[in-house]
Amino acid sequence: MTKAKLTLRGPEPNRWKWEEAGVIFVVSHGAVQGSEAGVAPSIREMVQEFDLPLDVIRQQKPRVSESIGQCIDKSRSGNSLNVAVLKNEINEQRRTSNELRPGLVILVDPNQFDPFQGTDEHTWTFGKQELGYYGESHPDGVCVLRYYHREAVRHELAHMLGLTQHCTNASCAMHYGCRVAQFCAECDKKLRRICFIEQL
Ligand SMILES: [Zn+2]
Ligand SMILES: [Zn+2]
Repeated sequence: MTKAKLTLRGPEPNRWKWEEAGVIFVVSHGAVQGSEAGVAPSIREMVQEFDLPLDVIRQQKPRVSESIGQCIDKSRSGNSLNVAVLKNEINEQRRTSNELRPGLVILVDPNQFDPFQGTDEHTWTFGKQELGYYGESHPDGVCVLRYYHREAVRHELAHMLGLTQHCTNASCAMHYGCRVAQFCAECDKKLRRICFIEQL
């Protein structure tokens, strides 16, 4: 087997280069422990589809969960989690410690957290647009999920890889409604352009 290196050439150059770790950790927070078992296969499926040299690992080390739990505690006010603050807290940890350096897909309990008020606007519920209903993701390698179905996982993972834009095509996973799992030809092409793979 040959080794390969991934470089993400998305629009945000000053981000944490999580892809250098070659790993995505899937971590559960709180009452949803064990849900990584359902989410990890959707991530692996996409990793294979795009030939990404990334290992997808269900991370259950207590120290990793604790560190993420502490970062979440610093970024929340009651049921409201500020994912941009969380990303900064995680990046702060990453400077001094190895354990949070990979890409992080963090599953949180939708009963404990309201839809995120961040930058990633999503679905339509009861005729109005909800913010971060399924999750919110940053190209720094921080993806927080409130819902774990395949469509949402793929949509958010694409954001984490650096595909920041939504798609106007309703039959594409990058549409904000996120009703299908497949990417349209356009978004597929964009993602492949962002994910630069070098054979070593
Ligand atoms: Zn989105
Ligand atoms: Zn699309």
